[in-house]
Amino acid sequence: MSKIGTMSGKKRQLRSLAAVSLILLLVTGLIFGASLLRQAGGEEALLAAGRALYTGDIRQKLIVDAGHGGFDGGAIGIGGVIEKDLNLSFSLPAGDFLAVMGYIPVLTRTEDTGLDNGESTIREKKRADLQARLKMMSEDVNVPVIMIHQNKFTQSQYSGAQMFYGTQNPASKQMAEQLRSGIVRYLQPDNTRELKKATSDVWLLVNCPAPVVMVECGFISNPEECALLQQPEYQRKFAFVLAASLDMG
Ligand SMILES: [Zn+2]
Repeated sequence: MSKIGTMSGKKRQLRSLAAVSLILLLVTGLIFGASLLRQAGGEEALLAAGRALYTGDIRQKLIVDAGHGGFDGGAIGIGGVIEKDLNLSFSLPAGDFLAVMGYIPVLTRTEDTGLDNGESTIREKKRADLQARLKMMSEDVNVPVIMIHQNKFTQSQYSGAQMFYGTQNPASKQMAEQLRSGIVRYLQPDNTRELKKATSDVWLLVNCPAPVVMVECGFISNPEECALLQQPEYQRKFAFVLAASLDMG
């Protein structure tokens, strides 16, 4: 009896050992499987982007330049929407998301003001405004700059975000590619717009010594996109993808 009893005790031990091993295998498999799934689904990149939330290991300063402002409205879109207002509506949440991610965002403006000094003519104001922005962008060549603008074209069918990169710092193109691929991946899968190298008509882009990208968020000359660009939810989504894309390398 006692022998049988011992044997059945060993069997019980074996059974529980087998059960524990099976559970361990399942758990390991699930963790590994979930990790593979995340990689396949592209979630890994977003998770990586959010890692600074937990580690707080990013203390990178970054300038967000909300284009135009105050005396300078920028382009006028469908229904009279003014570019400077949209630029601010994208820049403010971008700054918030960057701060949460551990960056130190520096916005060129946080309200409807230009960076002029009250010069007497629009031409002088514009000149002072651009020089003030360039000064901020030039203080440290290691501080990247994202310029937020809206696009406009004479024909209304064109839509989609587009990135223009600065000519002075070689890191500008890489940053533009990160922003482009993030927007395509998470917001605009059909967007085939290529990166554009800045031309001399965008003075800040060709004069900024730091890595700099001008993000044209969308076309305010396209009725559907112009309506979308005015939605706070879309503005926040777009701003989040911009912020997260910087960390996706
Ligand atoms: Zn503009």
